Amino acid sequence: MAFELPNLPYAHDALAAGGMSRETLEYHHDLHHKAYVDNGNKLLAGSGLEGKSLEEVIVATYGDDTKAGLFNNASQHWNHIQFWEMMAPTPGGMPGALEARIKDAFGSVEKFKEDFVAAGVGQFGSGWCWLVLDKGALKVTKTPNGVNPLCFGQTALLGCDVWEHSYYIDFRNKRPAFIQNFLDKLANWENVADRLAAAGG
Ligand code: FE
Repeated sequence: MAFELPNLPYAHDALAAGGMSRETLEYHHDLHHKAYVDNGNKLLAGSGLEGKSLEEVIVATYGDDTKAGLFNNASQHWNHIQFWEMMAPTPGGMPGALEARIKDAFGSVEKFKEDFVAAGVGQFGSGWCWLVLDKGALKVTKTPNGVNPLCFGQTALLGCDVWEHSYYIDFRNKRPAFIQNFLDKLANWENVADRLAAAGG
């Protein structure tokens, strides 16, 4: 089935108070995400994977050098769908059960945030940092370019896009400040908790 650009789950200016401007979302969703969808559809045609779900296309093409273009665009399409859902205009605090799991895994919420920022800062060049569920355990990871937790059989609970197009308008070259702001003002903890519960974690 063809890839489709979903609407943002909020208005383009809804995250501005949280530090992500209308201009960033106009570029990031309307142009960058759309390009992954358009290019992905061109590469999907004739690939033999047209009948597969987006997730199946990603897993089937990961590590296949002959389908690298399709993988990159399909995975970036999936990553951005998750990213929009993982932010909220007025995020509430961390639900208690999630906070308890994070304290269990990382020692404290602050230590989790430190690890998450360090992962995103430590990703040389473009990529993502993640909170994942991996075989029942919460972990912080980083991935290059479009690679995502699906490639490793992990569940993505929270992901932050650290490609420059994600932060350059609002934060210029300050990637650490962008990721810290994402955690403090934009991360949709209800969504993270729902993902954890859905994964049986
Ligand atoms: Fe992006």
